[in-house]
Amino acid sequence: MTDKELFEELSYKRKNVYEEITDEQKAEMLALCDEYREFLDAGKTERECVSKAIEMAKANGFVPLAEKGALKAGDKVYVINRNKNILLAIIGSEDIDEGINLVGAHIDSPRLDLKQNPLYESTGMALLKTHYYGGIKKYQWTAIPLAIHGVIFTKDGERVTLNIGENESDPVFCITDLLPHLAKDQMTKKMTEGIEGENLNILIGGIPLKSDDVSEKVKFAVLKLLNERYGIRERDFLSAEIEIVPAFKARNVGLDESFIGAYGQDDRVCAFTTLKAALDTEAPKKTAAALLVDKEEIGSMGNTGMLSAFMEMTVAEIIEKIKGECTVTEYNRVIRNSVCMSSDVGAAVDPNYESVSEKKNAAFAGCGMILMKYTGARGKSDSSDASAEFLYEIEKIMDDNGVIWQTGELGKVDQGGGGTIAQYVANLNMDVIDCGVPVLSMHAPFEITAKSDVYMAYKSYAAFYGNR
Ligand code: MN
Ligand code: MN
Repeated sequence: MTDKELFEELSYKRKNVYEEITDEQKAEMLALCDEYREFLDAGKTERECVSKAIEMAKANGFVPLAEKGALKAGDKVYVINRNKNILLAIIGSEDIDEGINLVGAHIDSPRLDLKQNPLYESTGMALLKTHYYGGIKKYQWTAIPLAIHGVIFTKDGERVTLNIGENESDPVFCITDLLPHLAKDQMTKKMTEGIEGENLNILIGGIPLKSDDVSEKVKFAVLKLLNERYGIRERDFLSAEIEIVPAFKARNVGLDESFIGAYGQDDRVCAFTTLKAALDTEAPKKTAAALLVDKEEIGSMGNTGMLSAFMEMTVAEIIEKIKGECTVTEYNRVIRNSVCMSSDVGAAVDPNYESVSEKKNAAFAGCGMILMKYTGARGKSDSSDASAEFLYEIEKIMDDNGVIWQTGELGKVDQGGGGTIAQYVANLNMDVIDCGVPVLSMHAPFEITAKSDVYMAYKSYAAFYGNR
């Protein structure tokens, strides 16, 4: 063995997925990514992602858990929580006491929510006031086409689903920004202050209604349109949940089409690949579960977030339907033996901003799935910090099943950071590893992932479900 060979044998180096996979795998990757782009276009809100997940689950033989009496090995079930959170499970052949193999991802993404009383008229235009959701760079949301998605109840209790701006024939909406000619003061502000939260107002109309009695003629015209088309009144907004998201579709990016650009890839890239892996899992040894949660971007709080008792209650129900009962001891045993891949996107090293990353430990787009011992910020705060034992076990499953993976610390030690749902799952007394897909322009209206990493994420979850 030459020194060069020995060095290669002894040292660690990340790999580029494209250099490792076969032509057959490339074809599989492209087909998966075509389907992924469709998923992104169909699921721009957590509610839409749940609807799409149900549709896909049903087509793959899953049934609502409530419809099942007793559960047996091979059964495929799902439970929906308030239309924003879903758990799918495939019952394993082993005793459930041996634990569950769980993959968790989130399906909420940064966006602009309408305020409760959003509609107003100013300077001959009608606008909607918003309150942003999650960590956004506000300037990125101005001067781009936006769509309106959401649920609103009419006076008579009819539930209206809004989806305006996605079809080619639909109008879109927009937040206007100041022209550079008059932006002298704005341009000298700090970027955090350049666009203010109260200025994220959506342009929704501009034709005044001819009327002698009403002063707000444009607002009046918009209200009439809303009433004619959807049967809603201004008051109905008070209870509505309406999300403003980018109106553009998921696209291939690059001459070689190596990337996918789309809104909401954090964390729908992990949600989609988790879902696909679960749907493709037949007769696993351990019970396999996929959990898609809401509210991660605002701290995992609430009854549809990771901190909700939904997962625990659902696991208890599954145990009861397998065993006939679920005692506290029984439940504790199952949870203690369960493990989780907490799948969320990581930061890919950006060629325009290389200096924020420490490149020995950062993730690179195209170099595969990220497996992270810890996330967090300022000394690993808000991290679950996986154990050596568990990391080794997962890494071995990945290696044995041809999954190409890399490490992926989120930025230099003192640069910042971020948490995921991993800490909350770990608090239940499970082993948890942070993992996911590297993303460029994370939280921007148009985020970038490498197709090869999307493919490796799918393969990693499938390997976990099928081999642990
Ligand atoms: Mn995320
Ligand atoms: Mn995020």
